[in-house]
Amino acid sequence: MEKNIIIIGAGLAGLTCAYLLQKQGIATIVLEARTRLGGRIDTIQAAEKTNIEMGATWFGSKHVHFTQLLKELEIGSFAQKMDGIAFFEPMSFEPAQQFQIPANQETSYRVQGGTAEVIRKLAASLPSDSIKKAVQIKTISQRKKDLLLTDQKGQTYSASHVISTLPPNLLAQSIQFEPALPEQVFSIFQQTHTWMSESIKFGLVYKSPFWEKKGFSGTMFSQCSISPELYDHSNYEGTTYALKGFLSGQAMHFDQEKRKTMIVEQLAKAMGPEARDFIAYEDRLWSEEVFTHTPYKSYVMAHQNNGHEVYQNTYYQGKLILSGTETANQFGGYMDGAVSSAIRAIQEILRDDII
Ligand SMILES: Cc1cc2nc3c(=O)[nH]c(=O)nc-3n(C[C@H](O)[C@H](O)[C@H](O)COP(=O)(O)OP(=O)(O)OC[C@H]3O[C@@H](n4cnc5c(N)ncnc54)[C@H](O)[C@@H]3O)c2cc1C
Repeated sequence: MEKNIIIIGAGLAGLTCAYLLQKQGIATIVLEARTRLGGRIDTIQAAEKTNIEMGATWFGSKHVHFTQLLKELEIGSFAQKMDGIAFFEPMSFEPAQQFQIPANQETSYRVQGGTAEVIRKLAASLPSDSIKKAVQIKTISQRKKDLLLTDQKGQTYSASHVISTLPPNLLAQSIQFEPALPEQVFSIFQQTHTWMSESIKFGLVYKSPFWEKKGFSGTMFSQCSISPELYDHSNYEGTTYALKGFLSGQAMHFDQEKRKTMIVEQLAKAMGPEARDFIAYEDRLWSEEVFTHTPYKSYVMAHQNNGHEVYQNTYYQGKLILSGTETANQFGGYMDGAVSSAIRAIQEILRDDII
């Protein structure tokens, strides 16, 4: 039988699957709902060509699968800047406390050129017509010898094997299966946490790193202001300057202008009035990203069911394989989990007699 593999989703897991299969001489088609690649990896270029990571940013030396992929793709990394004075705001009516982060903390690394560099290089390694954007898969049906997929326009695709890389809760709630998957499996999908899908990230671009000049690291933790956590986000080369962090969940109830004002005032209070001299503000509410997040049917805890055994099984007689970071039994939710889930998925494909 002819090899005919479709991968749903062109995030880190989907593109890694396609890349690894291509290395084995096996061609694939990757179908992506968005008009951009990368999924939860999205490095945007703000003012003054300043890269801001709106999605995944950090990894550690324990993330061996992701680190190995960077090595293979010849992409460099650098340590997150943490030296200098950091701030901690315990209460709104007290000034922020200043402290030094202990040197023995585990180092977090960033990707040189931005995390999207990984996506760019993976995509560049594949034939250009093998990735199709703006194709949202709506149904997966089992036929005698293959699986039939339908997209939002009613176009159909048939495949000997399908690898889904969708976050499982999204998969369960946005794709119709024919015949239905076992009830127990479906219910685990719906109770699987999608890492970071409810987070809000922001970035502020500056002409110069005013915080550095004042001996500050750019790190701040707060229990009472709009941003609970932020860091220096200048680039590896030291030519673009930014601060980047998370906004608390309540921030989604404010409009963007209000969010911007509140974060700038938080920074100005701790780091000085120079914080108001930013040249660009960006933020992203991931809960509004319909190709990442969908509300849960019931309460789900962080990382719940990540790597569950239902993801280690295949369905429709080995034709449907589940990949994507939430299916990984180690570092599920993280980039490393996305890469290891891709390795497992292609081992499954290579094991199958049809190939
Ligand atoms: C704000 C934020 C911060 C993060 N920070 C970190 C970090 O610092 N370190 C870290 O390791 N990880 C971090 N992560 C997690 C990291 O981004 C993910 O682990 C990783 O990118 C997941 O890759 P994936 O391919 O498994 O899933 P995704 O990136 O979610 O890819 C799934 C793809 O499927 C597509 N899709 C969805 N529905 C359909 C459909 N019906 N048809 C076709 N395509 C579809 C989506 O558009 C998407 O491209 C962060 C994530 C976010 C959102």
